[in-house]
Amino acid sequence: MKLDSKIPGGPLAEKWTGYKKNQKLVNPANKRKYSVIVVGTGLAGAAASATLAELGYHVSTFCFQDSPRRAHSIAAQGGINAAKNYPNDGDSVYRLFYDTLKGGDFRAREANVHRLAEVSVNIIDQCVAQGVPFAREYGGLLDNRSFGGAQVSRTFYCRGQTGQQLLLGAYQALSRQIGNGNVKMFPRTEMLDLVVVDGRTRGIVVRDLATGKIQSYAADAVVLATGGYSNVYFLSTNAIGCNVSATYRAHRRGAAFANPCYTQIHPTCIPVTGDHQSKLTLMSESLRNDGRVWVPKNPADCGKHPSQIPEADRDYVLERLYPSFGNLAPRDVSSRAAKRVCDDGRGVGPGGRGVYLDFAAAIARMGQPKVAEKYGNLFDMYQRITGENGYERPMRIYPALHYTMGGLWVDYELMSNLDGLFVLGEANFSDHGANRLGASALMQGLADGYFVIPYTLTNYFAAGKYNPDKDRLTTDHAEFKRCEAEVLGQVKKLLAIKGKKTAVEFHREGGKILWENVGMARTKESCELAMAKIRELRAEFWTSVNVPGTHEDLNVALERAGRVADFLEFGELLARDALTREESCGGHFREEYQYPDGEARRDDEKFAHAAAWEYQGPDKAPIRNEEPLTFDVVKPSVRSYK
Ligand SMILES: Cc1cc2nc3c(=O)[nH]c(=O)nc-3n(C[C@H](O)[C@H](O)[C@H](O)COP(=O)(O)OP(=O)(O)OC[C@H]3O[C@@H](n4cnc5c(N)ncnc54)[C@H](O)[C@@H]3O)c2cc1C
Repeated sequence: MKLDSKIPGGPLAEKWTGYKKNQKLVNPANKRKYSVIVVGTGLAGAAASATLAELGYHVSTFCFQDSPRRAHSIAAQGGINAAKNYPNDGDSVYRLFYDTLKGGDFRAREANVHRLAEVSVNIIDQCVAQGVPFAREYGGLLDNRSFGGAQVSRTFYCRGQTGQQLLLGAYQALSRQIGNGNVKMFPRTEMLDLVVVDGRTRGIVVRDLATGKIQSYAADAVVLATGGYSNVYFLSTNAIGCNVSATYRAHRRGAAFANPCYTQIHPTCIPVTGDHQSKLTLMSESLRNDGRVWVPKNPADCGKHPSQIPEADRDYVLERLYPSFGNLAPRDVSSRAAKRVCDDGRGVGPGGRGVYLDFAAAIARMGQPKVAEKYGNLFDMYQRITGENGYERPMRIYPALHYTMGGLWVDYELMSNLDGLFVLGEANFSDHGANRLGASALMQGLADGYFVIPYTLTNYFAAGKYNPDKDRLTTDHAEFKRCEAEVLGQVKKLLAIKGKKTAVEFHREGGKILWENVGMARTKESCELAMAKIRELRAEFWTSVNVPGTHEDLNVALERAGRVADFLEFGELLARDALTREESCGGHFREEYQYPDGEARRDDEKFAHAAAWEYQGPDKAPIRNEEPLTFDVVKPSVRSYK
């Protein structure tokens, strides 16, 4: 497979400007001739649909929720980064670029990350113009707070509901285009296949989730903005509906899947309390601006009420290990520190899997009303879930699966290796390397949707390789029919098994295998074990799953079963990727590769590349391709937050 990253020439800071200056344009009258399918209405998909329609393309947009504004992006709490430097604390486009590249442990492309930092400032302006109610400080400027891995305050926020407010902004823009007839919206419609003819993407096959009808849509380009795959681990902070099916099915049709083992474990989640749970809850990273992480120094104190443990007997772990970043050390680093102290027997709460996040010092410094003003809804949420009052007693937190940096491989133009298939937001692998910094996912989703795809898709259409008047296929084409038949075949097969276990039970088991073996820490043996166990579970799934109901109606058990079937294939790919990356970097921690102080040891000589996997068929080993990463401006160094 040829992986051409298409990074433009010229100095790093001028590449994107140069690209836009030299790109080809489509005349406004001709734009009407082109049609685009966008799958996904989170920040990336909604922003892309609205912007492409505004440009004049015909857009058809799909999501599986009943409304586009229920996409998982709505759950994002803490904020969105941008290099505005309003607090005048030394931020710049270069510093945001540098922090993001270093935060990703030097496993992302310099050119993409620099572009992201550049357009971050436009995002804030666009969202303010839409009316997004960002928090403001006394002087009237937009307020900022800090997130992990940065020594400046560059995170814009709307209390603890930033994702919701940003999505409402994007949704308004989308609704305007739906109202104008430029976007045709298909809610409750799940993409189940990608149609590719002679290497060119031609459309998708979907199932109407209300009626069960399977049908195809053709277009001149397809944009996937279908989110991340954290739920392959079953328990994660993601919405229950999040899944890998759209990207995995595109992978089966030839799209390369890059770095699936780069998964992010967030340090600030409410700990697991038992087998009854179906998802986990994030406590926003913003809480680490004022909350202090600690555990008892002495394991014998773990059972005591925290107020009975004097200051001298507390270990403020992150402040001790990482004095320059303290409680705002990046997520991978903070998560591993929490795991280490719990493995030492110093964890608190049920099963010893928790550390304290203590606001006593912040309350003493600024008073409880001020703390409530900043984080009130998060304290309320914590109390509703745990029954404990976070103002009176330190919260208990533990790392959980949260975000996935891996995704479909894309070039600088955000096009996959399949001609005409573009991938945006969390669904692609592009900008965060092996670890994403807090508040950078919203930035990337909106950058991709509002500011990158309008240029790169236009450039693609304008290249003139393809004439929409003559070359577009209709859904009567044999390949569309073949894909529809395959989708229907799989649906019927699932219903016909009539086994004894639900898809949810298989999902829970598969997730446990991955969490225990390819979770926060991995080894060669654990990756091999995970691959073998996932294979076994997959075989059992296809003989023993029980999917009630029919396919010609609303059937949520059937939807879930299809997604779990994909997770059980994808889980093996994730473990294989972790096995073959014989180094530790970012969220990928191979125990064999660490420094004596427990920090991740990269191997730049052998692994300074993106691994892009090529599908070879069911139960066949995929091919590992490499895109080398070169660093012209920043010299990769051992990442230190000390
Ligand atoms: C609890 C939580 C809090 C977070 N807080 C922050 C934060 O403060 N700051 C930050 O930067 N990031 C945060 N993140 C991460 C961030 O929210 C996500 O990475 C981001 O919102 C993903 O946006 P997206 O547009 O790529 O995908 P999503 O918002 O996940 O949207 C995916 C869309 O694809 C559609 N879709 C998927 N598959 C199919 C299919 N097969 N057919 C049809 N439609 C399909 C869905 O219906 C949906 O519309 C948080 C994440 C979580 C879990």
